[in-house]
Amino acid sequence: MNLTLPHLIFLLGISVYLLVRVVFQFRASADTKAVRRVTARDRMLILLVGACQITLPLLLFFTPWLNATNYTLPTASAWLGTLTLTGGLWLFWRSHTDLGKSWSVTLELNSNHQLVTQGVYRLVRHPMYASFFAMAVAQGLLLNNWLAGWSALLAVTALYVVRVPTEEQMMLDHFGDDYRNYMRQTGGIFPRTRAA
Ligand code: SAH
Repeated sequence: MNLTLPHLIFLLGISVYLLVRVVFQFRASADTKAVRRVTARDRMLILLVGACQITLPLLLFFTPWLNATNYTLPTASAWLGTLTLTGGLWLFWRSHTDLGKSWSVTLELNSNHQLVTQGVYRLVRHPMYASFFAMAVAQGLLLNNWLAGWSALLAVTALYVVRVPTEEQMMLDHFGDDYRNYMRQTGGIFPRTRAA
């Protein structure tokens, strides 16, 4: 076993992340689904992100299997990683509370789906994916291993690039001009700096 303080901070962060997911999974709408855009590719990417966020760090902490890709991190990296992880977790929790019953793991819409444009969704359309990016950067800054540290950033990038066009098309098909106008007023993962 090879647990350092930055590793423990990451483990605590991942535990909070999983707790938020479990709590909101229970609160998510049990309504009938009007639209489902679930593909095998989407499911594979969700599994890949999970493996990079959880399985690889656990292998780093509790087995010697990843030792060949270890390296030394400066102390400042742990501080920066802790700050980024805290910010990412806050955004993850906020996007769940703001989406409420409109949240789902896969791409689907409830029969009475509400378009959320308030809270963090007033500024960006994909705060939850933004929180994934922040947590993946934090993972790289906290874990002293190329594979366990940085693979999540690659996996989250792949998920974002593949999923967002399908998700936004689903929202456009369902909400039409309401979503088109919302897209004009917001950024993807960074707030818009200029008016559309
Ligand atoms: N892309 C968003 C949400 C991810 S969860 C984010 O990063 O925060 C995915 C589900 O959220 C989708 O299946 C869709 O039903 C729902 N969703 C996404 N944006 C929404 C919005 N603005 N209002 C309501 N539901 C939304």
